[in-house]
Amino acid sequence: MTLLAEPPTAVTPTSSQRRLVDGYGRHISDLRISVTDRCNFRCVYCMPEEGMQWLKRETILSFDEIQRITRIAVGLGVDEVRLTGGEPTLRPGLPDLVARLAPLPLKSLSLTTNGFLLKQQAQPLAQAGLKRINVSLDTLQHDRFHQIARRRGLDEVLAGLEELERYPSIAPIKVNVVAMRDFTETEVVAFAELSRRKPYVIRFIEFMPLDADGNWQRERVLSGDEIKAIIERDFMPLVRVPAEPSSTSRRYTFADGIGEIGFINPVSQPFCGSCNRIRLTADGQLRTCLFSIDEWDLRGPLRSGASDADIADILLEAVSHKELKHKINEGEAFQRASRSMSQIGG
Ligand code: SAM
Ligand code: SF4
Repeated sequence: MTLLAEPPTAVTPTSSQRRLVDGYGRHISDLRISVTDRCNFRCVYCMPEEGMQWLKRETILSFDEIQRITRIAVGLGVDEVRLTGGEPTLRPGLPDLVARLAPLPLKSLSLTTNGFLLKQQAQPLAQAGLKRINVSLDTLQHDRFHQIARRRGLDEVLAGLEELERYPSIAPIKVNVVAMRDFTETEVVAFAELSRRKPYVIRFIEFMPLDADGNWQRERVLSGDEIKAIIERDFMPLVRVPAEPSSTSRRYTFADGIGEIGFINPVSQPFCGSCNRIRLTADGQLRTCLFSIDEWDLRGPLRSGASDADIADILLEAVSHKELKHKINEGEAFQRASRSMSQIGG
């Protein structure tokens, strides 16, 4: 007799004790999954210009493996999943992965992308069931785009954003701007204007010490408050929008209600106390903080016959050791993460 396999999206019910809660009582509900460490850009705050060592192909998790881990994590309380990288749109068949994850009982299934390939991929991603998107874009000027990404691509990213507007099932469209002193100041007003012209939520993210080159310096961090002051000087005052407690972003509209701006201030106003995230690297290592030094291997157990309960045990154990906070502001106590941003999955 042939036994019917369990449907791949069926979530194993777990008792209320089997929830991802860390040693500080934080409930983990957000899983960020890196689907590749490769990228078609070389952003200065993320990757080295040359010499990046790519993961070996056989170490990269298959869609079956990603789907299985996600299903188990959902059974433990995860209800938000974000696909990221490297550049996730470079992973062949990305919409197929989205289609596999979409039937899971998730509040949010989202993607973080540099947008270069979105013109071609927005439709298949929308059809596959993608619900939210973050597009990274740090400048609206061609020469400065090349300065940051060390590749050309501004027209493609803007075309990708336009294309996204045709698929209202993916909403809101968020634009992430990494803010760096002596670079971003002159872009702030242009981005604020963009958020008033287009249905985009523009979010400025403080530069974190996760760049592969190790060039981060505190002086290069342009804080959210400084950017807000620039906007308020040139525009009308911003009005705070209430956000969920676990939200990393401080959200504002303009006094006339057109456009939305957000600030993600991990350096000047850390939000570790309400962190609800864990991360899975493309090669199947679980990280409980962006700045983790240690990782929890899921690939090995997955490939050597671990049961769902075994995988769940590793997730629970890892989460119970989640770091209290990052130590960017603690001088000597700060240790750089064991991988840079593109290898972790931001
Ligand atoms: N390639 C995709 C992209 O750029 O959107 C996804 C991966 S990227 C590592 C995820 C996010 O991390 C992007 O929004 C990027 O701007 C941000 N990021 C990368 N390095 C950063 C750093 N050192 N500090 C703050 N944000 C960073
Ligand atoms: Fe690539 Fe994204 Fe890193 Fe830029 S931020 S180098 S697009 S992974």
